[in-house]
Amino acid sequence: MQSNICAICHYGEIGLKGKNRRFFERQLVSNIRELLPDSDVSAPRGRVVVSSNRKDLKEILERIPGIVYFFFAEVVNSSIEDMEKRAVTLLKERNFESFRVTVKRSDKSFELSSYEIACKLGEVINKETGKRVDLSNPDITCWVEIHPKVTYIYVEKMKGVGGLPVGTGGKAVSLLSGGIDSPVASFRTIKRGVKNIFVHFHAYPTTSKESIDKAKSITSKLSSYQGETTLYLIPFDELQKEIVLGAKESLRVLLYRRIMVSIACEIAKKEGAGALVTGESLGQVASQTMENIRVTDDAADIPIFRPLLGYDKEEIIEEAKNLGTYDISILPEDDCCVRFLPHNPETKGEIHVTKTEEERILNKDSVIREVIENSEREIIRPRFL
Ligand code: ATP
Ligand code: MG
Repeated sequence: MQSNICAICHYGEIGLKGKNRRFFERQLVSNIRELLPDSDVSAPRGRVVVSSNRKDLKEILERIPGIVYFFFAEVVNSSIEDMEKRAVTLLKERNFESFRVTVKRSDKSFELSSYEIACKLGEVINKETGKRVDLSNPDITCWVEIHPKVTYIYVEKMKGVGGLPVGTGGKAVSLLSGGIDSPVASFRTIKRGVKNIFVHFHAYPTTSKESIDKAKSITSKLSSYQGETTLYLIPFDELQKEIVLGAKESLRVLLYRRIMVSIACEIAKKEGAGALVTGESLGQVASQTMENIRVTDDAADIPIFRPLLGYDKEEIIEEAKNLGTYDISILPEDDCCVRFLPHNPETKGEIHVTKTEEERILNKDSVIREVIENSEREIIRPRFL
């Protein structure tokens, strides 16, 4: 008798996508295969079945966007005796007072109806465990799915991350500082199916390597949600010095932001990405006022997504903790952006004033070319691969 455990993954939203459904399904299957290379993945109608012996299968599946919930199911042969035996064993491992059995049968040639199977199993479970049947509000449900070639039995429903499979929403370049906000912002777009390419600006070797190490660790964490991930490490020191020495002090931060955005747009072009992502939230700091966001946007030729625009800091922190990036983000570092902060940063920037200052001190095109030439491009994989 063949017997093992497999995960049955259900996707919500992608089931609704009409003609695109196959495209979303295929992407989800390919993402699962990438993150679980040693598993067997198939997609019978309406769900994805993953067979794997990995101990951390639950942790991996919990992070794959597109999976709304999943079960670990026992694979049993389709004899009623085997179903009874397995259902009893599964339920005896758990604490409950009341239960129900729910049977779904796609194999209509099976000798008993769903109702008859549920009654038979219910009776045996009741006899073997002494627990009572409660059809309307059970502590635990024992599901049985009978298909032509296989029968699944499962009891525990696990929550996935939801959203859409990564890759179905295109690519974006995400500006990743070592801070708390940008990883959360990136995750919000990853969850909506967008593959993120990360760009981190650093002042190494003038500052220590910590911000680079943090960017790598955060990228690795986020790669467990989206698979193999590209990270650009961009030297920002020289450029920052030019701005500090040449530009009006109050405009420094705006000029840093604009040049970062322009560089990120160039990388987006190289990588075929259609948008940028930042961790800005409205009014959080001086550079994040409506006026300054407008001045920053003016430096971009593709949309800038700011998924955290309406979030409070506490909400962002809570999400960073759930994501697993918070503990990395709070490690000490020399963030290039907080060096040489002006005493009175401009909070109501104007496009023409900032642009004139930018043109006066920088030859933007050649500067962008140069930093990209001097950047490092790394591929980062999730820690469990
Ligand atoms: P975070 O917590 O993400 O660092 P923040 O609240 O510190 O954000 P800012 O310093 O104003 O806010 O940065 C705003 C956004 O600009 C960041 O969320 C990030 O997307 C981008 N950014 C800032 N510094 C860097 C950097 N060194 N490298 C890449 N992107 C950066
Ligand atoms: Mg920051």
